Amino acid sequence: MDNHSTTPVDPRVLTVMLPYFSERFGNAASASHAFGWEAQRAVDEARAQIARLLHADSEEITFTSGATESNNLALKGVVQRYREKGRHIITVATEHKSVLDVAKRLEEEGVEVTYLPVASDGLISPDDVAAAMTDKTILISVMLANNEIGVIQPIAEIGEIARRRGVLLHCDGAQGVGKIPVDVREMGIDLLSFSAHKMYGPKGIGALYVRKQSPRLRLVPLIEGGGHERGMRSGTLNVPAVVGFGTACAICEKEMPMEGIRLTEMRTRLKDQIFLSLEEVSLNGHPTRRLPGNLNMSFAYVEGESVLMGLPDIALSTGSACTSAAPEPSYVLRALGVPNSLAHASLRFGLGRFNTHEEVDYVAGRVTQVVRRLREASPLYETAKGAVQRA
Ligand SMILES: *Cc1c(COP(=O)(O)O)cnc(C)c1O
Repeated sequence: MDNHSTTPVDPRVLTVMLPYFSERFGNAASASHAFGWEAQRAVDEARAQIARLLHADSEEITFTSGATESNNLALKGVVQRYREKGRHIITVATEHKSVLDVAKRLEEEGVEVTYLPVASDGLISPDDVAAAMTDKTILISVMLANNEIGVIQPIAEIGEIARRRGVLLHCDGAQGVGKIPVDVREMGIDLLSFSAHKMYGPKGIGALYVRKQSPRLRLVPLIEGGGHERGMRSGTLNVPAVVGFGTACAICEKEMPMEGIRLTEMRTRLKDQIFLSLEEVSLNGHPTRRLPGNLNMSFAYVEGESVLMGLPDIALSTGSACTSAAPEPSYVLRALGVPNSLAHASLRFGLGRFNTHEEVDYVAGRVTQVVRRLREASPLYETAKGAVQRA
């Protein structure tokens, strides 16, 4: 139940990929023989499937290794290309590290960066975006849906503001594309990053949508050599992965409405069961403006890490960055104003295509059991309960 980290490859995706490892192994850039033509045809079809999901054109899709690379290419590529226009970009405190770390790097190189705050529900205000713009602003980068709390930002409203002011809008769509409808024209998106492995495709392949008309965008590439992908990203294409990415997009396009309903239903069931059986539980992020499969909750008086240790049979995640000895609470929850103690007490549930109702019931039961056991052993909880009883 950790589908925000990655998703399994859909068996239908794997089936279409397999021949491209062996019989159809051609290099899509080999223009002089049938092996190359066959690979190129497969890439063309996949590119069209991917573009269709976004209501974009095929020529607007550049393949990358994933959303991390797409975010790097978008931010660095725009800043370098349009440096005479201005040196100010706007982003948000709750963005993914692959945007925030790039922004930090750009700051070191003299670019001014504004990090917008979010409200306690995780949403940014389009008014704040408008107020942060100066005549030096060249780019706004706002994610479609957050990877921890699933909150969906008002991209179309921000797109309209950006358009009016002649500022480019980049959107990190890694969590949202394939899960919720995206129309790059209607939403005023100029650049959109996304990744196959978050939508039941293979790892190591992603794309950047780059608008080709009004305005026609040009980026300085990160990777040069051979001029593949219209000079935007050189290197031999991973044809099996590209083909799998295309099929993953086609399946998402077709099944998105039903899958959204099913995941929302399962998410609600999970939330209701946990709320019914445990007290002092809080939901993090907006209650409805969030991805269908996302649930993020804090369980007062327990450490999220301790809950996970009690659940070795379930794949869940805390928002904590446990790269150091002392885990830092999630910067996303902190940006919402969630107190440190509750940020440490959080769990992220990410339901996906292959989860079942039985699994939902099992997870609700096990989480309840482990949280109860930890609370019974917690002096803090005992003290708090005692205080309530005395009052
Ligand atoms: C997973 C993720 C990324 C990184 O994508 P990769 O393809 O794994 O590099 C970027 N942004 C968000 C919001 C993500 O969830």
